[in-house]
Amino acid sequence: MRQLTADDDLTHEQSLLRDTVAQFMANEVSPTVGDFEKRCEFDWTLPARLREFGYIGGFLPESEGGYGMNHMDFAVLMEEAGYCWHSLRAILNTMNMAALLLARLGTPEQKERYLRPLMNGQLRVWVGITEPNHGSNVAGLETKAALVGDSWVINGSKLWITNGAISEMGILMAKVAPTEAGGPHGITAFIVDSNQTDFIKKRVHTMVLQATTTSELTFDNARVPAGNVLGGVGQGLKNILLALSFGRLSVSAGAVGAAQAALDLSIDYAKTRQQFGAPIGSYQLIQKMIVDMRVRTDASRQLVRRAARTLDRGNSGRMECSIAKLYSAQAAHEVADMALQVHGAMGYSRDYPIERIYRDTRGAIIPEGTTEIQTLIIGRELLGLSAFGTGAG
Ligand SMILES: Cc1cc2nc3c(=O)[nH]c(=O)nc-3n(C[C@H](O)[C@H](O)[C@H](O)COP(=O)(O)OP(=O)(O)OC[C@H]3O[C@@H](n4cnc5c(N)ncnc54)[C@H](O)[C@@H]3O)c2cc1C
Repeated sequence: MRQLTADDDLTHEQSLLRDTVAQFMANEVSPTVGDFEKRCEFDWTLPARLREFGYIGGFLPESEGGYGMNHMDFAVLMEEAGYCWHSLRAILNTMNMAALLLARLGTPEQKERYLRPLMNGQLRVWVGITEPNHGSNVAGLETKAALVGDSWVINGSKLWITNGAISEMGILMAKVAPTEAGGPHGITAFIVDSNQTDFIKKRVHTMVLQATTTSELTFDNARVPAGNVLGGVGQGLKNILLALSFGRLSVSAGAVGAAQAALDLSIDYAKTRQQFGAPIGSYQLIQKMIVDMRVRTDASRQLVRRAARTLDRGNSGRMECSIAKLYSAQAAHEVADMALQVHGAMGYSRDYPIERIYRDTRGAIIPEGTTEIQTLIIGRELLGLSAFGTGAG
């Protein structure tokens, strides 16, 4: 049974938010997660029901429909989402990245048409950056956009896109020809509305985050209205980076939540499972794993909160977010691995959450910048020397 204790890092309001959200997740969401996971489906009633807590765009100012929450508030929310269901955390992350981009870059018409329903939980969205040939090297993306008459004609494909095949709207990163480009790489963000643009959507099944619809999207002379550029031609790379720092905080906080869930389940199990006439938790080797799990979870939480505080002070937080992502994503999977060991064969069972937590914590290590990419970012910040290969941004 989960024990929510006083947390001196949090303000009274943040503690209240954590406790209220934790209760909602435990009562309203957790009981249904197993069924949705078995069907590889997401509960699309959740975004609208979670909106009042600030889960979608709560960090935006009230003038944009948000609650003016800070990064620490957001980290609290995402930790609780990750505690409950990592697919939920991932889908909220995509929705929030889209909300952030629309709020910062959108025209009043674009905000009215897309940001408002998105924040009400009534619009499903994707953010498409990765391609079959370009993952970590974002600046190398090859999807092309050319202005023909009153439309942009898009050619190329996107891979591993969360929500891609099922969403009403997406934000696509594509390159415009050098003559049309306003920035160094020509990368431009486009709003792709499924009611306006024809393209091929295919679900791709993966080991991780199975309730999300990971997808491949193919654009073959697909037409996007000229007015659907988001944030200026050639300004896309800068805008991706803006959303990525935010995404890194989100995935790190979610990883802390998943680690905490694995730890709590393991403590309960170790106290009740009997072998050789005693609870397995009374054996030192099991206690060692439980203690290691706790240390990694606590350390991750502190790194995430430092990153949130750094962002709240108005700093870029580039290094702090990368350190938090690097450590917490790896630590959460190590914690889940130990949790699986504590549970014995029960840990592998599809009827028990550890199996899902084990897979989904592995799923936090690659997206939002892999371990290696975070390491290179931190190295560049520390040394002032870039170890990225040629062509990297
Ligand atoms: C579940 C899931 C959901 C996702 N959702 C989205 C989404 O919604 N939108 C989206 O755009 N993308 C999404 N992605 C894609 C994700 O962002 C990419 O997988 C990630 O950026 C890594 O790219 P890649 O998989 O092509 O690996 P690659 O970039 O090909 O890397 C392969 C390996 O090489 C390493 N590597 C690469 N470059 C270097 C280097 N310079 N030095 C050392 N090592 C290096 C990497 O760390 C990795 O270990 C998602 C991925 C997953 C798994």
